[in-house]
Amino acid sequence: MEFKVDESTQKIWDTEIYTICSFCEKEYTFNQYIQSASIWVNPKEKKYGKITPCQCGVNLFSERWNIVSKVDVYYISTAHLPIAHGGVERKDWFDYGYWYETMFWSEHTKGNREFHDFQMRYHTREEAIRGQKFVVDNINKILESPDKYPQGIIDVFFNGIKAAEDQRKNIDPHVKRNLR
Ligand SMILES: [Zn+2]
Repeated sequence: MEFKVDESTQKIWDTEIYTICSFCEKEYTFNQYIQSASIWVNPKEKKYGKITPCQCGVNLFSERWNIVSKVDVYYISTAHLPIAHGGVERKDWFDYGYWYETMFWSEHTKGNREFHDFQMRYHTREEAIRGQKFVVDNINKILESPDKYPQGIIDVFFNGIKAAEDQRKNIDPHVKRNLR
């Protein structure tokens, strides 16, 4: 079966950044990525699927820049994403330039963490490092003097919608301009 893509999709695959190496920061369009030599995870038996290494040698999708902190029962993790994620509404619906994400969760969280995690997203590694510190510092403050904060404030952190609202207003001032 022949697989055809329309011209505009082809243009996106040729020109837009699809993934960025976490370590050497080489950028790949989708076409450059799929044309890169992929290797078997287990070359001897040719199984367990294939990975695409960057020219610097790391596996583009699984070896990602990541910082993790633990405060009390909470894990705070900031990672460089293999594919940029959408953030806020912009001229073509979404700004897909968010390459970094902070999540935090309790070690007691059961089930699918996706629905409990607090998330912030950023464009750059510098913003991501500041974001990690922001969450760590604030969890520490809340845990040191819980009486100073509304009861259940940590649960508020876990509320993704609230977090997204705060992110729009406070974390990305350059994006705020694009919001009504
Ligand atoms: Zn690389």
